[in-house]
Amino acid sequence: MKYLKLTKNQGTATLTFNRPDSSANIFDEAALIECRTVLQQIALDDAIQALIIDSAKPHIFIAGADIPSLSNATAGELAALIDLGHEVFSLLEALKIPTVAAIHGACVGGGYELALACDWRVASNAKTTKIGLPETQLGILPAWGGSTRLPQLITLPKALPLILAGKTLSASAAKRKGLVDQVVHQAHLKKVALKYLQKGKRNKDTHNIIHNSASVKMIEATARKDLMRKTRGLYPAPLKALEVVCNSVTQPHEVGFRLERDAIITLASKPATSHLIDLFLLSERAKKLKIQTGSVRELAAPVVIGSGIMGSGIGYWLSSRGYPTLVQDIHDTALAQGVQRIKQHYKKAQSRHIMTPAEAHAGFDRLHASSQRLPLQNRDLIIEAAVEDLDLKKKIFADLSARCSSECILATNTSALPIYELADVIKNPSRVVGLHFFNPVHRMPLVEIVRAPTTSDTTLAEVLRFVQKIGKIPIIVKDSPGFLVNRILVPYLLEACKLFAAGGDPVEIDEAMLDFGMPMGPLRLLDEVGLDVGKHVAETLVAAFPDRMSLPAMMVAMIEKGFLGRKVGQGFYIYGKDQPEPNPEALALREAEHLPLHSVAAQLAELMSDEAARCLDEDIANSPEDIDLAMVLGTGYAPFRGGPLRYADDLRLISPGFYRDHPHHRMVS
Ligand code: NAD
Repeated sequence: MKYLKLTKNQGTATLTFNRPDSSANIFDEAALIECRTVLQQIALDDAIQALIIDSAKPHIFIAGADIPSLSNATAGELAALIDLGHEVFSLLEALKIPTVAAIHGACVGGGYELALACDWRVASNAKTTKIGLPETQLGILPAWGGSTRLPQLITLPKALPLILAGKTLSASAAKRKGLVDQVVHQAHLKKVALKYLQKGKRNKDTHNIIHNSASVKMIEATARKDLMRKTRGLYPAPLKALEVVCNSVTQPHEVGFRLERDAIITLASKPATSHLIDLFLLSERAKKLKIQTGSVRELAAPVVIGSGIMGSGIGYWLSSRGYPTLVQDIHDTALAQGVQRIKQHYKKAQSRHIMTPAEAHAGFDRLHASSQRLPLQNRDLIIEAAVEDLDLKKKIFADLSARCSSECILATNTSALPIYELADVIKNPSRVVGLHFFNPVHRMPLVEIVRAPTTSDTTLAEVLRFVQKIGKIPIIVKDSPGFLVNRILVPYLLEACKLFAAGGDPVEIDEAMLDFGMPMGPLRLLDEVGLDVGKHVAETLVAAFPDRMSLPAMMVAMIEKGFLGRKVGQGFYIYGKDQPEPNPEALALREAEHLPLHSVAAQLAELMSDEAARCLDEDIANSPEDIDLAMVLGTGYAPFRGGPLRYADDLRLISPGFYRDHPHHRMVS
């Protein structure tokens, strides 16, 4: 056998998944066929009285289906693959002997659908253990029995939110929601799995009281309303999943399986699905990206300069990922506030069950905050996150380079300033690089790695590895004003501000972009960022591209009036306890009272696509896919549209096939 190993010990068999030459176990056709053969043998072997299913991989139980083969399949091939999965997992479910999945590591999608076909599920409490059905995130739905079996296990009202949002959970959250029966230390997984086998076959609850057509109709109507509110109907997959789950829950399995198969075939033909799958594959590619150099030094014990919004966010993130982190600020009060923010992050992580109290304590203990000029000789990475002022940053860099070793990498978190000017002021400029984290650091997955002309391959390779190790997704970009994400985002924000100034209704402008699929309207976003902060970044871009960018007078006027945004309670909107309302004093600053708005979304989206195309021409990023991925991860650009370049290509705004035929385009594989 190639993918599986069957061992027997006194009547208990263990079926171990171990895909050769891969760090992950996944289900493709060959693995499913092998699984079917083994399960048929087990069914006929009277000597086997019980079955444990586990994995030989250190971090993965089974990570689900082989996504590239799924996305490249024809409708016929897809139907056959779905039928095969149903057949295999139904064989497992129909075994007369008790079965248990001993889960350690990622158990998602098809992996969890296999576990659902077992009688029992025991999971390790390791951080790497993640459980759930994330298919809707890829524009599809759980179609190997997950949409049918999960509601049967935990009831429809509990299963729906998990399936519709495509959530994956930690082992303890999965236990709380009933996805697994027990959570134990990895060392006890086998012993506890054996204990469950002694219970025999599981008695399946039919949940008749909830799963009758009247209550299912009510549950479906509420879920649909909630879904429409959250997604504005832009994502076909959760809507389809809702239909399938609710239609199958009162029916025999076979009906559910047929609905699952028909639904995935329908979804597979949607552009949104291929865009979401492409983005997933691109993220996976970015997580594994390597620069070809010699051996890559592991950067340990980082230093963060500045403990403001970004410095404290980075300090929290690094210390929580296991790095002993020194955070420095020149102002004692700012430092104390920064430490307080970090403490709050740890508290929240604890209350959201992202960390145990012990993990939160350990993380906070790894943090060292000081305003003293401590020795930096033994440090190998310093990330500067002081205020956005080039002269100040130059002074900080000159000072740091005099205090640290010549090997120490000096990174800046600047939003838009030229990195090469910072490299100019130090010895060995090959170690200067931009590491542009996004706000809020703990939520935003992207880090732009900005390569200055002097940045060496070694530096790039080392920070790339570092960004990947801290669990962020890196995009390498050129040292150019605004780098990539701000370069594309800023003109869009400025244009929204100009539409407002000309008499545009702020709610209409923001709603148009929400309907387009952005997570927040541009004016609300400016309020969140802070108009003063936004202006600062915009000035760098306006100075660099005066032919097509200018600072709206409205922005300056609003800053003068103190309408800085949410942080002061007023910007384009007034922020109180309730829903933000347009700020009447800001409205009064407009040139006209009412500007009829036509196709605002198309106009603003095209602006982003245009700027993205310029970035591609100027080689700001390595490929069109990198640009699209960065915009989705860095700004929440409507994922189902695939990114600003994909959007333009789909609408033929740029010459047909521009994206596909661009010389930089590399097929996602
Ligand atoms: P902030 O004003 O909140 O914090 C800056 C901190 O730097 C302050 O605490 C200040 O006391 C400290 N500082 C000033 N001079 C210093 C020095 N010589 N040594 C040590 N500390 C010093 O600013 P922020 O929003 O955290 O931004 C920091 C950097 O990150 C800027 O370059 C900004 O452009 C960039 N950035 C900001 C955001 C954002 O949304 N806020 C996002 C991405 C990048």
